[in-house]
Amino acid sequence: MLAPHYNTVVIGAGPAGLMAAIEAYNPEHSVVLLEKMRKPSLKLRISGKGRCNITNEEGLQSFLNRFGKKGRFLKYAFSQFFNHDLLNYLHELDVPTKLERGGRYFPQSDRATDIVDAFVNKINELKIPIVTQAHVTDLAKNEAGQFVLQVTHSGRPVQVTADQVCITTGGLSYPATGSTGEGYIMAKAFGHSITDTAPSLVPVLTAGDTAKRVQGVSLRNITVSVWSENKKVTELFGEMMFTRKGVTGPIILTLSETLVSMLDARQDVQIKIDLKPALDHKKLDQRLLREISDHSKQNFKNMLKSLLPRKMIELFVDILAIDPEKQLHQVTGEERKRLRMLLKEFPMQVTGHDSYDHAIVTSGGVSLKEINATTMESKLTSNLYFAGEVIDVNGETGGYNLTSSWSTGYLAGRSMRNNKLIGVNDEKE
Ligand SMILES: Cc1cc2nc3c(=O)[nH]c(=O)nc-3n(C[C@H](O)[C@H](O)[C@H](O)COP(=O)(O)OP(=O)(O)OC[C@H]3O[C@@H](n4cnc5c(N)ncnc54)[C@H](O)[C@@H]3O)c2cc1C
Repeated sequence: MLAPHYNTVVIGAGPAGLMAAIEAYNPEHSVVLLEKMRKPSLKLRISGKGRCNITNEEGLQSFLNRFGKKGRFLKYAFSQFFNHDLLNYLHELDVPTKLERGGRYFPQSDRATDIVDAFVNKINELKIPIVTQAHVTDLAKNEAGQFVLQVTHSGRPVQVTADQVCITTGGLSYPATGSTGEGYIMAKAFGHSITDTAPSLVPVLTAGDTAKRVQGVSLRNITVSVWSENKKVTELFGEMMFTRKGVTGPIILTLSETLVSMLDARQDVQIKIDLKPALDHKKLDQRLLREISDHSKQNFKNMLKSLLPRKMIELFVDILAIDPEKQLHQVTGEERKRLRMLLKEFPMQVTGHDSYDHAIVTSGGVSLKEINATTMESKLTSNLYFAGEVIDVNGETGGYNLTSSWSTGYLAGRSMRNNKLIGVNDEKE
């Protein structure tokens, strides 16, 4: 059941909202967490393929760099609550964690739901109600300066007033989890600007059937470079994967923000995969020559086995148009050059990107210029706070985005807890 008035209302029970509600707890304030779905934190439950990559071991400066230029905004929030604070917090909530490759932390149980349960238990312990199926459809302020929320609760309209409100409604990605961008509409109603939004950390689509033919193949220790009109834009070293329609995996997701903005600007976009980044052209040629002279009686297809994942061999043979049964001593210099070029610069034309349905995060959101980075309070409307993905920050894969949601949620919650103006008139009413 919803009361007609609360001191503090947090809208959206994702990681940012769970944290903000806990940290807003003040025995003298009434706090409520409203969630439109049947369960809190549906997205957190599926994060990290159900394992939840909680945070990253990286130091502050390189961590901030993972958010691009906008990382600067998070500096204060991280000074208050950063990766190791989060790990200690989770340990206190009885969620042991473990460190994996790439500095990534996961719950020891490999279950994202353990994290949701731990936060929900803490909220229950503090007797903060989490009201599910409570969909906030409108947020305004009345003449007395109170927030007025129109809520559809289990299908019935209810009006709730509040002294302070925190919007933690997330972005637009994976809308089936409840993140459908409603926080942007609420923020706009208070005069906030919303910077252009786009799917980010999203798989990209490539031309033809190349990807489909090697669907499921994962490539490790490779470099992907992004090209437009014969100019290299950027490159990344790491891991990627072919899908039915294109490419995905850590480095592709990280490059996707650049790729999406280039596609939006209608640029011609190509990626080139360097399958042998440890060898420059000269060294790779020497290696090919060695293979050819050491195994001159072997056929061409056999040599490819030592250079490529098995599932890519047929594709290479077709693209190179070299007889796979040809003995190595018959391979010409020109054919060897074609093979070397394909190994170093395997080209794929990028034709588009997946939709928000498959994007890990949303880029863009409530403009950072209008939010106080030391409190997360709106600079335009007092007692209105923001945290999590609804604001205009998004990072790379590796636990950065959840950390940002929890840290900004922590800061917003603490600011609301310490808001001296809240609750002072309650006894007089
Ligand atoms: C598949 C997937 C895997 C991911 N894996 C990782 C990972 O391993 N590590 C990592 O760091 N990041 C990961 N992310 C990103 C991370 O999950 C998000 O950045 C994070 O969940 C954002 O938290 P949030 O609290 O801001 O918003 P959300 O998690 O989106 O939560 C917002 C909540 O608000 C509710 N809501 C929205 N509108 C209303 C309304 N009008 N009224 C009431 N409630 C409302 C929604 O139902 C939702 O529960 C992943 C994302 C996806 C999609």
